[in-house]
Parts: sequence; structure tokens; C-alpha cells
Amino acid sequence: MEVCPQLPVLPLDRPVPQHVLRRRGAISLGPGAWGSALFGGPSPRQLCKRRGGVSYTSADQAVLYLHLLGDVRQRGPGPSEPEQRAPHSHVQVDYQSLHCLQGPVRPGARGQRSRCRRLSFQRFLKNPHLLRQQPPGPLHLVDQEYTGQVKCMLNKVDSWDFDIFLFDRFTNGNSLVTLTFHLFLQLGLTRLFRLDPIKLHRFLVMVQADYHQLNPYHNYLHAADVTQAMYCYLREPQLAETLSSCDMLLALVAAVTHDLDHPGVNQGFLVRTGHHLAALYKNSSVLESHHWRCAVSLLRESALLDHLPPIDRLNLEERLGSLILATDISQQNRYLARFREHLDRGDLSMAEPSHRHLVLQMTMKCADICNPCRVWRLSSQWSSRVTTEFFHQGDVEKKHGMAVSPLCDRLSDSTAHIQAGFIRHVVEPLFREWRRFSCTSLSHRMLAHLQTNLDRWMARSQRPETTS
Ligand SMILES: [Zn+2]
Repeated sequence: MEVCPQLPVLPLDRPVPQHVLRRRGAISLGPGAWGSALFGGPSPRQLCKRRGGVSYTSADQAVLYLHLLGDVRQRGPGPSEPEQRAPHSHVQVDYQSLHCLQGPVRPGARGQRSRCRRLSFQRFLKNPHLLRQQPPGPLHLVDQEYTGQVKCMLNKVDSWDFDIFLFDRFTNGNSLVTLTFHLFLQLGLTRLFRLDPIKLHRFLVMVQADYHQLNPYHNYLHAADVTQAMYCYLREPQLAETLSSCDMLLALVAAVTHDLDHPGVNQGFLVRTGHHLAALYKNSSVLESHHWRCAVSLLRESALLDHLPPIDRLNLEERLGSLILATDISQQNRYLARFREHLDRGDLSMAEPSHRHLVLQMTMKCADICNPCRVWRLSSQWSSRVTTEFFHQGDVEKKHGMAVSPLCDRLSDSTAHIQAGFIRHVVEPLFREWRRFSCTSLSHRMLAHLQTNLDRWMARSQRPETTS
């Protein structure tokens, strides 16, 4: 029997009956179909229900040669669990389906995971991977999942051209966990803070799962991208030579958690719909406050820092909040004014803890909105994603008879128009000050990309929207 080396081979524990072997061509299998119903199962109707394609090419009754026939995704809702988070009281917006208008959810573990989101305590109780019931594996457990391409990309993780979209594909949708775990090792934080690699891995898995996969923009991939940008900034001489290990730890944790549990709508929407988070945080930095409290919740749940003295843990949590709250774009002018004053006076001292913290806040802000400073092929993808998220919010607002928020109307706004305004009024002022602080080749390069991207968006805003 000639075996095609590209086909996976599935050894069977019993011979395949002749009546199955006579069924030439494709048969379909679904999850759990490897039971007795296939071999010897009397009902052809059951076979018809099964999804996915498998063909056999052998008369060998002990081996089945699998040939995937294309789309073998499980279609339909699957074994899902309803969203447990409480709906807000006024407008009954279905947050679970808010972004279902986007294209088909990518198959595989991520899509499945997004349908099975649970509250933290439920996840902790039901997910065996988050428990340590079984003996822990080798400390380099994450390394075992690396493929050659992933290793190759991680060798260049400090590159400003790092393609997080490609990295996410290579890691099978685990970019946030894989990247951040690697950066902790790279910066020596695991060793310095005596972090348990198992707890660190568990923490990152929970963080990744707490991002809403259906958000076109504010999902785990954005967090992974911000974390990679943060690492690039931490390597800049102004920071690498002055920041403490604690600062570095905080910066990475803030980057990876800064948009946790983002609902895919902005603060204005939450306030106008009377969402419980808006009430909880008194309509001020609502989302950022929630991201921070989620981050603290996962830190405590994972017990990652439990070996540190309580006073140090509380201090870390407070500083973490201060970094995440700095990403509130409505407060940008306040932060920028303080930073500019120090630069004008030339009195920014990295030996002074409060000054170092302000610099960390500015670093966090830069990492969060650095998309327009990336090369066009990456930057334009982020632009498209964020516009999609804005327009989905606008669609929901229209559906419920609400006034459409600025930048959220797909009939009157466009990606080019939104991006041109965002770059000129928000991104460029921030990165110009950043270059005054850290006048390196990276800062010059980011501003050069920014100008190129602005020119392209300006040109496009003069003509109808295109997709490329
Ligand atoms: Zn963000």
C-alpha cells in the first residue's frame, strides 16, 4: 500500500468493516464521531449528520488515512454557555452578539473559547488547565509549543516591524500568552521576582481569555501588539538604563492587561445606556477603571505575586492602576502638558521615582496608540479593525434609536477621515514630545511612518473609501 507522507495516519484499535470500506469517496465526521457508531454503527443517517471531511484510500483494515477536505469546522453554535455578565438596565443591548456582524469567526480553539467565556471563578473551577491538580510539567512547558517559525520571530521580537498578525497565526491564536511569557524570560523578570512559571502561564492564559475575541479591535491581539511595542520602548537607552526591574514588570503587566474585558463600545455608550460599570465608576475613566480591576482580579486569582510581601503587592496594584488609567484618551492633554513642562524645563530626572512613573505612563500611552506609527501594511490593518468596531457601535445605536456617537456612523464617516484626524490631533502631538524625550532612531522612524501613513489617509480621504 502506498502511503502519501503528507496525509496524517490514524491507527485504529479495531478492523474497519468491509461495508465501510466499500463506501468509496468522502465520508463526514464530527466531534466525537470516533465512537462505535462509525464502525459497525447501523444508521447511515448518523453519518450524514457528521461534519468535516475524511476520505479513505486503503483496503488496509487497520489504518485509516485522513484527508481533510477543506472546511472541517464545526458549524452552528456548538456547546456554548450563555454570557454570565449582567446586562445593563436601560437599553437591552446584547453584548454577546455585538460584534457578530463581522466575518466568520476563525475556526479552532480561539473561536470555541470565545463562545465559552465564563466568569473568573467559574473558569477557575471548570478549567483543569488553570488548576494544579496534576503534577506540573517541565518549567519550559511553553517552549514545547513553539514551532520553528515562532522561535524565528521571537528572535526578532524587538523589531519595530514585528508582524503580530503573522505571529498570532504561527502560535495558533496564542500570541499574547506566547509573546508575554517569552518577554518575561527575556527581561529576566521570572528569575528576579522568583515567579512560578506555571502561575505566570496560568495568569497569561486567563488574561488572553478575558479579552473579547469578537471585538474587531479591542481583543487579545491588540494587547499583544501593545506589549510588543512596550518591549521595544523598554529597550530604548533612556528607559533601559534607568528603569528598575519593578518598573519593567509593571510596564509589561500593564501593557498586557490594559484593555481587559473591553466590551467593544466606548465610555459614552456605557454612560448613555446606564451600564452598571458607568454607575460603578461614576462616569469617569469607566473602561480603564474596569480594565485595572480585572487585572488585579486575575493577578490575585493566579496567585502570581502571592510570595511577595502584602505591602509590595498592594503598591504594585496601585501603580498598575495608575498606568492603565493613563490610557484614557480623554485625559491625554493633562498627561501631555505635564510631560511637556518637564521637557521644557529640562528637569526630568529618572532618578526621581515620581518622574520615572510619569515616563512609564507616557510609555504606556505611546504603546497603546502606536498603530499609526507602524509600517503601512500593519498600520492599515489596525485602522480597518478599529473603524469596524466604531461602526458596529454606531449600528447598535441606530438599532436602539440612540444618537450615533462621533466617528461611529458608517454612512458619514470613513477609515481615512477617522485616521487622519486621529493622527493629527492625538498621535502626532504625543510622539513629537516622546521624540524630545527619547531622540533615537526608533523615535525618528515612528514619526516617519506616521507622516507616510497620514499622507496616505489624507489622499484617500479625498476619494471614496477603498478596502486595501
Ligand atoms: Zn488599548
